[in-house]
Amino acid sequence: MKRRDFFKTVGFATIAAGVSTGLNGIACSKRKFMKGSGMKLSYEIKQLNLRHTWTIARNSSNFKQDVFVKLEKDGIVGIGEAAPNVRYDETPESTIEVIKKAIPLFADADPFEFVQLGYDIQNLCEGQTAGKAALDIALMDWVGKALNIPLYKMWGLDPEKSPLTSFSIGIDTPEVMAQKTREAEPYKILKVKVGKPNDEEFIKAVRSVAPDKPIRVDANEGWIDKEVAIRKIEWLVKNGIEFIEQPMPSRMLEETRWLRDRSPIPIIADEAVKSAADIPKLAEAYDGINIKIMKSGGLQEALRMIWLAKSLGMKIMIGCMIESSVAITAAAQLCSLIDYADLDGNLLISNDPFVGATLIDGRVVLNDQPGIGVKEA
Ligand code: MG
Repeated sequence: MKRRDFFKTVGFATIAAGVSTGLNGIACSKRKFMKGSGMKLSYEIKQLNLRHTWTIARNSSNFKQDVFVKLEKDGIVGIGEAAPNVRYDETPESTIEVIKKAIPLFADADPFEFVQLGYDIQNLCEGQTAGKAALDIALMDWVGKALNIPLYKMWGLDPEKSPLTSFSIGIDTPEVMAQKTREAEPYKILKVKVGKPNDEEFIKAVRSVAPDKPIRVDANEGWIDKEVAIRKIEWLVKNGIEFIEQPMPSRMLEETRWLRDRSPIPIIADEAVKSAADIPKLAEAYDGINIKIMKSGGLQEALRMIWLAKSLGMKIMIGCMIESSVAITAAAQLCSLIDYADLDGNLLISNDPFVGATLIDGRVVLNDQPGIGVKEA
């Protein structure tokens, strides 16, 4: 099947260019943009195959099905990606539902009013932030391309200030985790998944191969007893762990506050935080937040989260799901504003359909292409 046939058009509106709106068109980068002319929205599901079976405290998988979005207008195509996550009641099908809901929105939209349009995307429905993220990424990619500048430049950011990224080691037998650590030799920081009764074995396996590398751990809500959690953290500290991500379930805010009072290393919220509205109540129980554009519903909300968390004195990490270079390169646009980067989702898959940011000396390095800077592989 030809790719253009495979890309199913779900929304198409307009053009009557110039008839009623031509005089309102705005000129930019020698192009004429017609205010009020609609945007064409299409989507495609692609299967992303994992290099290794991916296991965290919650579940296990060999592949992911992500939904890719194209937003077209005036010959410019914005690209977006949704990585639906069962933890947040998302599937490829529910993601497509929210994309379909956006058809009338984009049919009437002026993409240069992307701030209001971004809010309208957030208000399409409750949850389903992966689908909203795909729409917001595609929108911002379109705007950057229309202005012919990289998105980071449009937002006044210097990508050279981005921190090193960590590389994640999923839960497996100690032997396989040691092997994964060997394969992760090019990465300067590791993030090890824990949250099982035998966590210590995982860390020992990784440390046996990487005795001096900075290691962060992520329990993915796997510890449900605060006394056990503090003992685990004390053991981790002795093994040189830098910080712990989401040690306890997100609902256990009081227990996490108790843990934070006793923990010598920072505690970072992941599952407990999705959007800016979640942040104020977390400030007393966590030292920082892990922002993911799939949770926030896109780049614009992620940017709001960064400013809010900074104002509350919290550390900021940008993480990811299992994603292609589209969502990773999109998230990397914001990395000069953060403390910790964890953008390895595209490195965990064997058939990335796109190319964009590249990993150089442990850092996700952006290119100077307009928009988010991705193209099909
Ligand atoms: Mg996490």
